[in-house]
Amino acid sequence: RQELYRELRKKPSESKDGVHVDLMMNAGLVVDLPQLAESGAAGIGLFRTELQFMVAAAFPRAEAQEALYRDVLDIARDKPVTFRTIDIGGDKVLPYFKNAAAEENPALGWRAIRLTLDRPGLLRTQIRALLKAAGGRELRVMLPMVTVLSEIAQAREIIDKEVRHLSRFAHLLPTSLKLGAMVEVPSLLWQLDELMKAVDFVSVGSNDLFQFIMATDRGNTQLADRFDPLSTPFLRALKSVADAGARNHTPVTLCGELAGKPISAMALIGLGYRSISMSAASIGPVKAMLAELPVGELETFFEENLAGQAAGLPMRALLQAFADDR
Ligand code: PEP
Ligand code: MG
Repeated sequence: RQELYRELRKKPSESKDGVHVDLMMNAGLVVDLPQLAESGAAGIGLFRTELQFMVAAAFPRAEAQEALYRDVLDIARDKPVTFRTIDIGGDKVLPYFKNAAAEENPALGWRAIRLTLDRPGLLRTQIRALLKAAGGRELRVMLPMVTVLSEIAQAREIIDKEVRHLSRFAHLLPTSLKLGAMVEVPSLLWQLDELMKAVDFVSVGSNDLFQFIMATDRGNTQLADRFDPLSTPFLRALKSVADAGARNHTPVTLCGELAGKPISAMALIGLGYRSISMSAASIGPVKAMLAELPVGELETFFEENLAGQAAGLPMRALLQAFADDR
């Protein structure tokens, strides 16, 4: 198998019927980066910037943040990297930054974009570090836990202000700046067209989106196998995001754990996803699956089974049967 994956690395990432799918990897620290070449990933679809904060004893200084981002971009070279602004709070606690208020439901609490918009100094420092590190090259920034669109507007204002500041001091700016949002809070599912117009790209965070749609703590082992992401309601939600992206010509990707399992990656591709981001170790197995997948047939399968009367059927079993038959 390892031999097969190594062979596949040089092959284009294409389905049996010639559909191209970008297979990207998730990362968060410099030690992850050699895997970019080793796995043959098309880029880094999710760089979790909070990891640098979580392994530090105090807030990383602006210089340390900039140095990390520069290293990442240097190593990635012409492969795209999407930096997610710090997603702290919730399950990602910093020992040196305590939330004054006790939270009964930290996953629903003061975290991610909520926290950084309330402490704009944190976001400003990070944005400045990203802009400087990406001078002369492309920069992609993604906001975690967006719930309402005004959060995107507020973040954009901070970014624009930093861009103006740096250009006033004659810094080399990024050649392009793309701003994206994670789709991981269900409220976005009912404002998808507006969302798609408000950003340059979106990425589904399936770990959190599943937790919130199913009201099921992602870390609770007692509930781990209770509900299935490959079930009609969740697959419909995922399809609605892919459809809205296509309708608005806004690129859509998915960067949760779902992308890394061949059977669920298969489902995502059938739902219309043409870019998915996973752990580096999953790229080989997913690429091997893709090479044998007739995407057109799978799209027909979903047209026949995801809506209407057929929708009550056990989707995982049907998808497994589809895979086994081919
Ligand atoms: C997710 O929620 O699916 C995601 C990719 O982000 P994280 O796992 O870091 O919350
Ligand atoms: Mg998340």
